[in-house]
Amino acid sequence: MHDYATELQAALAAVREASHLCRAVQRTITPDVLDKKDNSPVTIADFGSQALVCRVIGDAFPNDPIIAEEDSAALRQPENAGFLSGILGEVQRLGVSATPDDLFQWIDRGDAKDYSPRFWTLDPIDGTKGFLRKGQYAVSLALIVNGRIELGVLGCPNLPVSARNEASLDMLCYAVRGHGAFMLPLEGDAAPWPIHVSNVSDPKLARFCESVESGHSAHDDSVKIASLLGLTAPPVRMDSQAKYATVGQGRVDAYLRLPTRVGYFERIWDHAGGVILVEEAGGRVTDLNGEPLDFAHGHMLLKNRGVIVTNGLLHEEVLAAVQSVVATET
Ligand code: AMP
Ligand code: MG
Repeated sequence: MHDYATELQAALAAVREASHLCRAVQRTITPDVLDKKDNSPVTIADFGSQALVCRVIGDAFPNDPIIAEEDSAALRQPENAGFLSGILGEVQRLGVSATPDDLFQWIDRGDAKDYSPRFWTLDPIDGTKGFLRKGQYAVSLALIVNGRIELGVLGCPNLPVSARNEASLDMLCYAVRGHGAFMLPLEGDAAPWPIHVSNVSDPKLARFCESVESGHSAHDDSVKIASLLGLTAPPVRMDSQAKYATVGQGRVDAYLRLPTRVGYFERIWDHAGGVILVEEAGGRVTDLNGEPLDFAHGHMLLKNRGVIVTNGLLHEEVLAAVQSVVATET
């Protein structure tokens, strides 16, 4: 079985560096917010993170396309010169020398759109809203080969690395297909340790998590699903793929992402890194129909609706409850 050792080394270095940039920006400034066409807030850190990750991955694997969330178009506008110099400053603070053109080129290495037999996908800051509210966010990078996620790395700078010490934040986690899921601190050179999903098999005892944003996952449906399952603990609300990491660590037992409207397709960069992490930690990920997520359709999950993530043991029961609630509504 391929261990993707070179890819993993590059991906860890890239996500680690980007996580440092994000953390510095989150801690030291109130990020200026720039409106993208879709009105989601984009910060200095989104662009800086994408530039750093694409620089490392593009240098190491120049033939691999990268499907990433941002592009440099807005940054090239003269009215955003202040933003641009802010990004350059953050990148340079990490010891990476860069001109504006370097930055544009690195960011636009992430402009692949179509499926190819081997490609990377990147969300430079997943959960921008969480980032802005000083909550959870993630840098998510994954490698997809022949439609299958083979490697994923999540930088979760605000997640605790240890259940025994909640104050110790800065978590990095990764998985390689067939080789398990691991966690390590963002700082220092501690050896990674394996992570595992929980062994809760009684839905009544299960704890699940969902988006903070009710526009990203239907909170009213999750209340009905919880009641059908007899589940009593309130959902843990958290931004970003930190939810996948939390299931992978066994701190919660499931993550529900329930469609809020017809016609929305999930973006691959919002899931790929997290999916392999949970699968390699022993869990299961499907859509609402019980089908695996299909990463062979460009930047969207065009063949899937909703996402159900569990420790595996709970999957069939959770899925049945989800289907009965969602089916009565459509
Ligand atoms: P979360 O932090 O889990 O709430 O997810 C954040 C991601 O939700 C963003 O990166 C967006 O790509 C994505 N998103 C935006 N609109 C929707 C929607 N209507 N349904 C599901 N996800 C969405
Ligand atoms: Mg995202």
